[in-house]
Amino acid sequence: MTDPHELLVVNPATEELVATVPAASEDDVAAAVARATRAQESWAALAPADRARLLRRFADTVDAHTEELARLEVREAGHTIGNARWEAGNARDLLLYAAGGIERLLGKQIPVPGGWDITFHEPLGVVGVIAPWNFPMPIAAWGSFPALAAGNAVVLKPAETTPLTALRLAELALEAGLPEHVFQVLPGYGGTAGRALVEHPGVAKIVFTGSTRTGREVMERCARQVKPVTLELGGKSPNIVFADADLTAALDPFSFLDNSGQDCCARTRVLVQEEIYEEARAFLADALAAVIVGDPADEKTQMGPLISRAQLDRVRSYVPDDAPALRGSAPEGPGFWFPPTVLTDVPPGAPAAREEIFGPVAVLLPFTDERDAIRLANDTPYGLSGSVWTRDLGRALRVTQAVRAGNLSVNSHSSVRYWTPFGGFKQSGLGRELGPDALTAFTETKNVFISTEGPAQ
Ligand code: NAD
Repeated sequence: MTDPHELLVVNPATEELVATVPAASEDDVAAAVARATRAQESWAALAPADRARLLRRFADTVDAHTEELARLEVREAGHTIGNARWEAGNARDLLLYAAGGIERLLGKQIPVPGGWDITFHEPLGVVGVIAPWNFPMPIAAWGSFPALAAGNAVVLKPAETTPLTALRLAELALEAGLPEHVFQVLPGYGGTAGRALVEHPGVAKIVFTGSTRTGREVMERCARQVKPVTLELGGKSPNIVFADADLTAALDPFSFLDNSGQDCCARTRVLVQEEIYEEARAFLADALAAVIVGDPADEKTQMGPLISRAQLDRVRSYVPDDAPALRGSAPEGPGFWFPPTVLTDVPPGAPAAREEIFGPVAVLLPFTDERDAIRLANDTPYGLSGSVWTRDLGRALRVTQAVRAGNLSVNSHSSVRYWTPFGGFKQSGLGRELGPDALTAFTETKNVFISTEGPAQ
């Protein structure tokens, strides 16, 4: 039975208890929002260069603690140590990028008759960020740091299973000299702390990253207060591989196995042109067999465990033991392990081919030609990311134009870069994070008209 007052952080590779963390109540959320509201006024009033300097110091402090943060992520989330170091570095880099935007948050001067017209980007106030467990540090950073840069205070609620790196980031912010209560982290349950943050009238915007089901509920609650919301939700992204592609690069199994497949951008629908279907199948069989699955703290490990028993059960429900599939191996014993898997002979309409599994499981589907590839790629309620592999540039351009998704890559599996906008089409989300406009998403535009009418000189 879960105690509503505490969170149990469990190491997914060993099932050992890592920490017990108090869970925030509705009253705790209200108190945090009140503190944030007071802190935000002086934060926004700081000279832009001073706010930028503090965020750069925060970046330096994160940088000095990269290894510590990475080790913490290995223990609470089971991420491989190499990935976890990248994730801490991503948080640092985004702080530097956002700091660079503060002194460039420019309004416009618009030509109008009878006076001058100027727009301002004013901070919203207090921003609530609700993060999932799959990338605890980067996703907390994407929602929080551009908001801070734009002059807002942030209350961040990390996922139940992974509060530790977020808590540490908040400590590092104070150590770096950020004013108290400007960046608060409140671990807690979604149905209490998360919901209280969404419903609090003092929270001016919600940035939610998580499942489409919860995102829909968050959006409904925000609608009651006409509260702006950014939603980064699920995905079931296609990897479209034409027969002329570089197959070794195109069929890289880490395009769907990275982070044990717990990646909203994972290319879990491997669509291959029918003439190379057998070659692709043989390639993937060898590639899965070679994946090193095991202790995430070991530098050689390529794939760790799933986050929890619940997630393991969910993934298993899509892969019956007798399902036709290519399979790698996974450790036995304690830990939430699932082997790298590619389901073959799955009808395109089957749940495994349409629903987000969020584990190391892809489906391999053949297509006939360009038109068929586009049809299959778009045959999903999601639209987050995808890859197109071909040496024919014209075809690459036509297909990327036709696929309804927010983040596409050609001859690459890259999805998220802090320099470029990130977000989903269709039920993968609403709004964009990151990129050159990241700060603007945390502002209201104010238009001021100044009359030049007056007594004639
Ligand atoms: P989830 O929806 O269960 O939980 C996400 C967060 O919402 C958690 O912090 C949770 O406590 C909170 N929450 C739950 N119920 C709530 C409520 N009623 N009100 C307010 N907050 C509530 O998702 P998850 O299982 O933690 O994360 C996995 C999902 O996240 C996957 O679907 C994945 O695709 C998605 N995801 C999307 C992106 C993206 O950028 N598009 C990135 C990572 C993960």
